[in-house]
Amino acid sequence: MLEAGSTLPNGLLVRVGGKNLFRISPPLQEEAGHSVSGDPRTLCYAKLAPGGLSNNWTGAVPRFAPEDFTEGERLHERFRWPITYADLVPYYEKIERSLDITADPRDVPQLPGGHASYRNRIPEDWRDVERAANKCGQGFTTYPLADGPPNMFVRRGAAFNSYTSIVNSLLRLPGFRFESGAQALQLEWSPSKGKVGAVVYFSRRTGRLERLHASAFVIACGPLGSAKLLHNSTSNDFPQGLGNSNGLVGCFLHDHPREWWSIEMKRPRSLLAPAAYLTRLPYDSSEPLMATSWTLGVVGTMDRVKSRFGLKGTTVGVQVLGTMIPSETCAAKPSTTAKDEFGLPVLEVCMRYSDDEVGNIVRSRQHFMNLMEDAGCSATLGEVVPTLFPGTAAHYGGTARMHAKQNYGVVDTWNRVYGAPNVLVCDASCFTTAAEKNPTLTLMAISARAATRLAQDLKHG
Ligand SMILES: Cc1cc2nc3c(=O)[nH]c(=O)nc-3n(C[C@H](O)[C@H](O)[C@H](O)COP(=O)(O)OP(=O)(O)OC[C@H]3O[C@@H](n4cnc5c(N)ncnc54)[C@H](O)[C@@H]3O)c2cc1C
Repeated sequence: MLEAGSTLPNGLLVRVGGKNLFRISPPLQEEAGHSVSGDPRTLCYAKLAPGGLSNNWTGAVPRFAPEDFTEGERLHERFRWPITYADLVPYYEKIERSLDITADPRDVPQLPGGHASYRNRIPEDWRDVERAANKCGQGFTTYPLADGPPNMFVRRGAAFNSYTSIVNSLLRLPGFRFESGAQALQLEWSPSKGKVGAVVYFSRRTGRLERLHASAFVIACGPLGSAKLLHNSTSNDFPQGLGNSNGLVGCFLHDHPREWWSIEMKRPRSLLAPAAYLTRLPYDSSEPLMATSWTLGVVGTMDRVKSRFGLKGTTVGVQVLGTMIPSETCAAKPSTTAKDEFGLPVLEVCMRYSDDEVGNIVRSRQHFMNLMEDAGCSATLGEVVPTLFPGTAAHYGGTARMHAKQNYGVVDTWNRVYGAPNVLVCDASCFTTAAEKNPTLTLMAISARAATRLAQDLKHG
């Protein structure tokens, strides 16, 4: 495993009685040096460190619903995933067991339940909101969070970190080697073998370019980093980059349009720690690929501490995640002018939210306020924090999309690059469309599925 970063960043997490009381995450920056066109406010977060962005993540791990894989075909067949929810169920289950999730394991509308290590139900005095949600065909439940055991004091920014929780346990295996400070730059195509034979990387340990030969390669640099690696892996057979014969690498880039606001309720209620989740509106009453979800939680350390002692409060913070309809116009492509420290083109990220995508988020405020009113909860909307521009959610996806047909996809059903099947792209790059749900659980389940198949294929030569 080649990892561009060198050291695991520090942080601090204090969790008592199943409530996160205090958390310091490492600084979040745009470390990969991508350039931006489209909306100039676009953020390209990257954490070049063991654990990547999971050093900073919140740990929300909702499953996608079965319809999230199919609803896009109402628009066009290019939005149909080649895999189904049923294909992922065993892998969802396997990954959930490694994530130490606090959740309500029951199904609610538009959100299948999953394995919960720690069970939680929304407080009794929020059941009227649950009933009002159900009347709209929505679910209201505990937000599934990879929050770890109820009591924790750890020097990292999140309970689950992909390095600490997964890679670290592999280090003792004789067949596994982990090299940090090793930045993959190009995959080398071997025309005689008809496959990729080696990866060229810069080693910060030796200060030189190195070459590693292998039977197969799994790319998992995150949707921006993976697109850059594919673009830069040019050869006579792939002059536009590996897997880019149809010009699709980097296209269909998406993130979650995101907004944050608070509400002030007239009557105090139980503080929502762990957070609660209001699911999207039903598929049949929504425009295809247009949805929002609402996460309700506590605001500020004081309310966090109050929640520990079962005290009530009147302020609720609400995060809305919306969807984008992926298109060729939002894309991550090689810059024609700027070069990185290795003389390779910098990745240029071009994203902009359409009026429909922005309108979808804005309408979600009123829907939520109406629903609260229906539940008999009088509340006023507080200040809306201006976060409605690309990259603020850091839920990038789609740059090496999965499709059953090569003319619509970069990778096949098993995450193998079309034309270079000994290379797999195993991160949210492979997402055919984005649901309004956080991506990490689903990208891990898809990766586990692809890795299982790769292992079988390698065993059988
Ligand atoms: C503040 C914040 C909160 C978030 N909250 C949530 C949440 O609640 N739920 C959720 O689902 N998601 C959340 N996310 C998103 C989540 O962090 C990402 O989906 C997840 O980390 C993606 O994992 P990944 O391994 O694919 O990519 P990354 O985490 O980006 O990791 C990429 C890894 O590849 C390495 N790398 C990159 N380029 C190279 C190269 N060329 N050579 C070698 N190594 C390379 C990097 O160093 C890094 O280790 C959040 C993100 C942020 C920033």
